[in-house]
Amino acid sequence: MEEGVTRDNVHMNTLENLTFHNTYASLPEVFHQRVNPTPFPNPHVVSANPAAAVLIDLDPKEMTRPDFAEFVCGAKHWPGSDPVAMLYSGHQFGHYVPQLGDGRAILLGEVTNAKGERWDLQIKGAGLTRFSRDGDGRAVLRSTIREYLCGEAMHGLGIPTTRGLCIVAGEEIVLREMPEPGAMLIRMAPTHVRFGSFEVFFYRRQHEYLKILADYVLEHHFPHLRGTEQPYAGLLQEVATRTGHLVAQWQAAGWAHGVLNTDNMSILGLTLDYGPFGFMERYDPTFICNHSDHHGRYSFQNQPDIGYWNIRALAQALSPLVDQADVQAAPQRYEHAMLGKYAELMRAKLGLLDTHAGDDKLVTDLLNLMDSSRADYTNVFRALGECRQEDAMAPDSVRQHFLHREAFDDWAVRYRDRLCAEHSHDAERQNRMNQVNPVYILRNHLAQRAITLAVREQDYAEIDRLLQLLSDPFSEQPETEAYTLPPPPGEPQVIVSCSS
Ligand code: AMP
Ligand code: MG
Repeated sequence: MEEGVTRDNVHMNTLENLTFHNTYASLPEVFHQRVNPTPFPNPHVVSANPAAAVLIDLDPKEMTRPDFAEFVCGAKHWPGSDPVAMLYSGHQFGHYVPQLGDGRAILLGEVTNAKGERWDLQIKGAGLTRFSRDGDGRAVLRSTIREYLCGEAMHGLGIPTTRGLCIVAGEEIVLREMPEPGAMLIRMAPTHVRFGSFEVFFYRRQHEYLKILADYVLEHHFPHLRGTEQPYAGLLQEVATRTGHLVAQWQAAGWAHGVLNTDNMSILGLTLDYGPFGFMERYDPTFICNHSDHHGRYSFQNQPDIGYWNIRALAQALSPLVDQADVQAAPQRYEHAMLGKYAELMRAKLGLLDTHAGDDKLVTDLLNLMDSSRADYTNVFRALGECRQEDAMAPDSVRQHFLHREAFDDWAVRYRDRLCAEHSHDAERQNRMNQVNPVYILRNHLAQRAITLAVREQDYAEIDRLLQLLSDPFSEQPETEAYTLPPPPGEPQVIVSCSS
């Protein structure tokens, strides 16, 4: 065995020493296609994320090896890996599509770290598979940068998500609305199994495979449910709860996924498949981040209902394994989890420790005021931490966000009274609020600037700069004010669509 470095007494591996357990590849053939990535010429690393490398005990220095990019783009075989594309189907914009599957992603296999945790390593943009349909199997540099940065931004915010290990680009031009440089992203998750992975076997009436998949997911990801009286019902209820918590976290962060099709819903309750996502800047509940979503099905304010719809779809897919009563209970379980978590998160954003009747209204009234002022959602919450109970008025740093100052001042009096009622301590509260109200979010124009530099000049420094700020979004860094501001008025909006 080669010598590696150690970190926190964990042996850090070379690429050759990673331990693969290809459990998904071991499932019956119907679950996947064995397929190798299709490399592109002259690959080079665009960005590498040491925080993700550490999760698989990979020595981050390995990502600076001259041949690392060749591994990433599939020109070199990862020792021990057994690459497959995964089968799934799903409901896209409410309509069932019988076969989707990994059309441009290839699962290298699952790397197990010293703690026994298993991480899927998946290459996105790895070329054609049996599931590519009309697509070219590729991803563009623009979208891999967005996925990579947003995964780390979500993780920094404490929101469950897939993680980005690295991006490589090469000499390959991909045609979208216009020709763009292609790239590949390695992303990681304990599993990439989706709601659609189950739906495909339900609609094909292949219930024996449905059961095999449920048993697989239980064994590897919900071991505490195995051996219980109703493990499949337990699985459904737990996924409903996790999904409810996830959607609540999106709402509290002011984030919209953009394409909440059931094939983009993780069975682990992770944020999965970043496409035209967006953080709201000016608060607008009707915010639609996906330019292709003409009816706003996946608008910000619809996400909680869509989560409910998607859990119902999963419950139906699992109905051959679960009692009817449990199928019906799942969406309610989701709703209960989502509403409870949302209330808890919003109280925390306001720095409230106790639960009082009327807290919901305090939150809603603030959101309505933000809406009418088109105030910056992130910056208002961060600034609210500066409110002091002895002051007659909220500080200007908060008031300046509101056009209707008097209406806001009335709200601020109610907020102050509410803080007094629970004997809030100003400094301690601000400290708490600063740990849940970020300074930095991935604003579209920030991502776009990093993308433009990368695409036009092969200058990747801005990607790493954003990665660093977003991985610790609650700590204010010196000389970064520009990263906290919405785009200047008049700057054209960045248009993001499904095409990526
Ligand atoms: P997405 O919108 O990225 O969640 O993808 C929906 C489906 O289309 C999945 O089955 C993807 O694998 C597939 N897909 C998206 N883009 C491509 C592409 N460029 N080539 C092949 N398949 C793709
Ligand atoms: Mg997808």
